[in-house]
Amino acid sequence: MTDFVRAARPNDLGDVTAITGRSTGSIAFIAGGTDLIIAHENLPWPDLIIDITGIAELDFVDVTETAVQIGAATTMSTLDRHKGIRKSLPLLAQASAQVGSAQIRNRATIGGNIASAVPAGDLLPVLKCLEVRIEILRHDGRTEVLEFDDVVVGSGETSLGNGDLITGIVLPLKHGANRISAFAKIGMREVLTIARLNMAIAANYDQAANRVSDIRVVAGAVGPLPLRLPAVEAVFQGRVIDQSLADDFLNALVSEIDNAIPGRYSQSYKRRAIIGLGLDLLRDLFDREFSPALPLMEPV
Ligand SMILES: Cc1cc2nc3c(=O)[nH]c(=O)nc-3n(C[C@H](O)[C@H](O)[C@H](O)COP(=O)(O)OP(=O)(O)OC[C@H]3O[C@@H](n4cnc5c(N)ncnc54)[C@H](O)[C@@H]3O)c2cc1C
Repeated sequence: MTDFVRAARPNDLGDVTAITGRSTGSIAFIAGGTDLIIAHENLPWPDLIIDITGIAELDFVDVTETAVQIGAATTMSTLDRHKGIRKSLPLLAQASAQVGSAQIRNRATIGGNIASAVPAGDLLPVLKCLEVRIEILRHDGRTEVLEFDDVVVGSGETSLGNGDLITGIVLPLKHGANRISAFAKIGMREVLTIARLNMAIAANYDQAANRVSDIRVVAGAVGPLPLRLPAVEAVFQGRVIDQSLADDFLNALVSEIDNAIPGRYSQSYKRRAIIGLGLDLLRDLFDREFSPALPLMEPV
């Protein structure tokens, strides 16, 4: 039994590789520590903890006309406040703003959220919705860029090996100014909310025609992995945005919940909750109010 833990605080990625390349035991990185510290209250600690908070290369946000790059150690507070993120990726700013309390957001990082791969993780449906690619520094110094689905592979499970570090995310901004997006979540409390349900939507909106195209809808906390909802996306095909579309959208969301968690005790709660989420998202995306669809009135 080990009664102490070795720790390292490298200053750059070269130092990280020097450490991971020669280390033989188990390794955990620590960024904000908001998940790691709690997880290891009950689990054995790894042989080596590598604190990545001193690595400036991991703490940056770069938004250009054509792409966004974010370092893995960027905190939720930074993402929430960043003007470029708010403008180009409002859903990411909104999700970051709704993680835990101000104290948690000041510590919690985007890399930690991905690596924890908790089904209720608020950034996960957003990152899947945005089709981000995740940059990885392997323990032996190789670098790779993988799709989100190839990194987050199960509840609390990633494809990362021992000593593999997420260095950041990257996504092209291929859609231009017509791209709209939003994130909403329902948690148990107003503050310190681990999501019981969350959802991200991104689409191209032709305001003159009042129609969307190229829409992606992803729900979180309904299963082990963020769930893309193609049947919900199909509702928008060739339709103008009006109350009739909103009704079909909300009904499609309820059907998806029924399919995702049939018979689960949380099903009746979640099918009502998703209607509330859907209404919040529609209001945010199109800046107008819609009424709840019929299922909200059904007895539970
Ligand atoms: C009170 C409270 C409220 C919370 N509320 C929310 C919430 O509302 N929404 C939400 O999504 N989450 C919430 N969380 C969970 C947590 O804050 C987030 O998941 C956060 O993003 C984790 O980031 P971190 O930097 O603190 O990770 P850490 O705790 O430092 O690390 C978490 C795990 O990821 C690994 N890791 C960290 N960075 C990297 C990296 N760059 N590469 C590889 N592995 C890495 C660590 O080894 C560890 O296994 C909450 C936590 C607490 C304690």
